[in-house]
Amino acid sequence: MADRTAVRIAGEALPRGELWAAAAAVADEVSGARVVAVPGSASLPTVVGMVGCLLGGVTVVPVPADAGPRERAHILTDSKAELWLGEPPAEDGAAGGNGRGLPVVPIDPARRSASTFPEPDPATAAMVMYTSGTTGAPKGVVTSRRAIAACLDALTDAWAWTPDDVLVHGLPLFHIHGLVLGVLGALRVGSPLVHTRRPRPADYAAAAERHGGSLYFGVPTVWSRVCDDPAAAATLGRARLLVSGSAPLPVPVARRLHELTGLVPVERYGMTESLITVAVRADGERRPGWVGLPLPTVATRLASIPDATDVAGSAHGAAAPLGPPGGGDVADVPRDGESVGELQVRGATLFDGYLGLAEATAASWTPDGWFRTGDAAVIDPDGWHRIVGRTSVDLIKSGGYRIGAGEVEAALLAHPAITEAAVVGVADADLGQRIVAYVVGDGTAPVDPDAVSTFVAEQLSVHKRPREVRVVDGLPRNAMGKVQKKLLASS
Ligand code: ATP
Ligand code: MG
Repeated sequence: MADRTAVRIAGEALPRGELWAAAAAVADEVSGARVVAVPGSASLPTVVGMVGCLLGGVTVVPVPADAGPRERAHILTDSKAELWLGEPPAEDGAAGGNGRGLPVVPIDPARRSASTFPEPDPATAAMVMYTSGTTGAPKGVVTSRRAIAACLDALTDAWAWTPDDVLVHGLPLFHIHGLVLGVLGALRVGSPLVHTRRPRPADYAAAAERHGGSLYFGVPTVWSRVCDDPAAAATLGRARLLVSGSAPLPVPVARRLHELTGLVPVERYGMTESLITVAVRADGERRPGWVGLPLPTVATRLASIPDATDVAGSAHGAAAPLGPPGGGDVADVPRDGESVGELQVRGATLFDGYLGLAEATAASWTPDGWFRTGDAAVIDPDGWHRIVGRTSVDLIKSGGYRIGAGEVEAALLAHPAITEAAVVGVADADLGQRIVAYVVGDGTAPVDPDAVSTFVAEQLSVHKRPREVRVVDGLPRNAMGKVQKKLLASS
């Protein structure tokens, strides 16, 4: 039987056996190093380099392709990387390497080696991956080989992922979505990966035509763009499964995608620290707005969200509709499909700690061993999970009430001319925080902020209504399509 393509990126492809031989050549070159930085550009050398490190038992530090010199310098120092494996960043010039004086080892995907390597200890660190920096500075997350294997095996089962699948995605190769799920998942299952370099609908459709994609990964902005491209959507309608994650998939996008493709995307939820913990199964029910059930190796619970700055009891009234502020750290929020608490998780896919941040690591675990995700969630009596937002930026405290930004965003997105919405709490002398909405129109006609206010007033009680609606051309998003609310809240 012909050797099957393992990975194809931008026209360059390697069959499985050759990828392994090329990775073995990399492993030969980096042997002796413990920690190696690999620039996460969307390219075949990146994949060969990372697989080579993993094969040789060397810890990989994926360096975000969009990191500026400062962030890159921080990552290289913080991770104690000993080598830079791959092309030096353009602005450093050929001689300067990577700005840290690290030895540069180029990756040549054409080299081959027949070396074999002993299976590394599953408890060792496969990667130090940096978080997306949505809520603060990116943190180095130390993840074991065992955690990655546990996560990928659970997802393989949940999505009935087999070697007959062809995975198509164009996500960055420096976060768990594109790299761990998208590259390592495909290699572990043995299904070919077609990487489109960018997650553009037309490129996904072209990959589908040429290579018969069956499984597609995207962040919500990708799926929203597919909705604007009915021809691409029709092609993607031949897929087996569309998967969405990294940020909340708006319900109107899920519905529209269903109309255009006949498929409701499955959502999955996770983070760099925990890998994927909750997912919708391929053979299961679809509930737009919900991210599914915990994977078998994971347990979840909801703890009340401590709220030092809560103004309950003030002249504005004491109601706290998002559940009572409490001590947290016990499963004290009912699984009734309505009550919001902090999602806490434990299980086989959890990380080992934040690199060099003993205090932050300790603070992220409860005394009885649960990881505090920092995400606010709801669990229903059947065990389905809905992510409400971040406990830090998405729970707005206004006039004595705690308001979930997501509920206000959903009301805004129900407006036919609004395609994107982000709601933040802005410091306010009277209310504590004032609700401010940023909306993006669909471009057919100018959006009138007053009309938007009137529209949401029909759906939301007074304390949940935005005090101000700002119409903008676009929301600040990072490479994973996550809205950078810290930029909005400070503007
Ligand atoms: P930082 O921790 O540096 O602030 P970050 O939390 O955005 O950045 P990641 O680990 O890449 O970094 O992202 C994890 C977060 O992404 C989760 O905590 C959650 O808020 C969000 N997320 C992931 N999947 C989903 C989903 N399906 N629905 C809603 N939110 C999601
Ligand atoms: Mg985070």
